Amino acid sequence: MKIVDIREVALPLQGQIANAVVNFAEHDVSLLALVTDVVRNGRPLVGLAFNSIGRFAQSGILRHRLLPRLQRANSESLLNDSGTQWDPARVLACVLKNEKPAGHGDRAGAAAAIELAVWDLNAKLADEPAWATLARACGRSLLLTPVEVYAAGGYYYAAGSGHSLGDEFRRYRDMGYQAFKMKIGGATLSEDLRRIEEALTVAGEGSRLAVDANGRFDLATATAYAQAMADFGLRWFEEAGDPLDYDLNRAVADLGLGPVATGENLFSCQDVRNLVRFGGMRVGQDVFQMDPGLSYGLGEYLRMIEMLEQAGYSRHQCIPHGGHLINLHIVAGLGLGGCESYPGVFQPFGGYSPACRVEGSTVMPSDAPGFGLEQKPELLAPISQLLA
Ligand code: MG
Repeated sequence: MKIVDIREVALPLQGQIANAVVNFAEHDVSLLALVTDVVRNGRPLVGLAFNSIGRFAQSGILRHRLLPRLQRANSESLLNDSGTQWDPARVLACVLKNEKPAGHGDRAGAAAAIELAVWDLNAKLADEPAWATLARACGRSLLLTPVEVYAAGGYYYAAGSGHSLGDEFRRYRDMGYQAFKMKIGGATLSEDLRRIEEALTVAGEGSRLAVDANGRFDLATATAYAQAMADFGLRWFEEAGDPLDYDLNRAVADLGLGPVATGENLFSCQDVRNLVRFGGMRVGQDVFQMDPGLSYGLGEYLRMIEMLEQAGYSRHQCIPHGGHLINLHIVAGLGLGGCESYPGVFQPFGGYSPACRVEGSTVMPSDAPGFGLEQKPELLAPISQLLA
């Protein structure tokens, strides 16, 4: 069993949307294909993945550092002991050879695309959906239960654009979503409070609405927002300040004004351990949003979960950043607290395939082999162009 070809393409994200800090119009994503010599239905078996969304493609790191190491590797060294599957940990170790510890950054996302493509390959080898492969690998139940999902969005719309936050959330509600997340911090506090009230006319109650400041606030501003929003009883206050300012996170949590959420910008188990040590995250209350697609893939993510559980947290407090098919399978396979979705935005990667039905604010992966990326209509053309 050999990987005979590796292909990567940087695909731009569609949609002119912005949060408090960045405009996504310039963002792109690395779509990666591991082509093998295994033949199924007359075609080579291909492992597909991408490095999550809301960041940038990692073509440079992949092409100049990580992928050449994989191409030079002895094929057998990438398989498990019995030679029946690719070993995601061995593949990851191969592509990270000679890389120093820490300083994770974009490398963590580049490596994740490779590691997750290996999981896609293994699931397709077993002719089963990736959630089942992950559940089996982790000794978890193979009984699939609906995954709680919320629609993330709530971006800023220019006046006179003909679009509004209320229209956006009503569209998600019509698609079956009952919980939502919106951006804050891109306007004044009073304007954001007005937007939250607008969102609540659709969400119905605060427990179905989270807000995300994308790390924009200093402690004084974060405190002012937390106090002003307290009466809404919101689901969580996400990334109030710089994601590496654990003391600020602790101070906001210590206000006792509602759950906080963070972690999407932590790319290693050690970073999350420091969050646990210094960030004031509360057992049974606050939300961890680390994203395997940004942090070396599933192996590192499993170490984070294990560390959190040893520290007394529940895996239900883990709701990964990145609303897409890969994380849906990971949440379902590992029994996490839920996942997000970006219906209609961040195409071609955001949201799920039509075979994954959203109902009562839950979603189920389909039974397509692997992560089922081939079932997502928006990805069909990019995948076939990549493999042409
Ligand atoms: Mg966020």
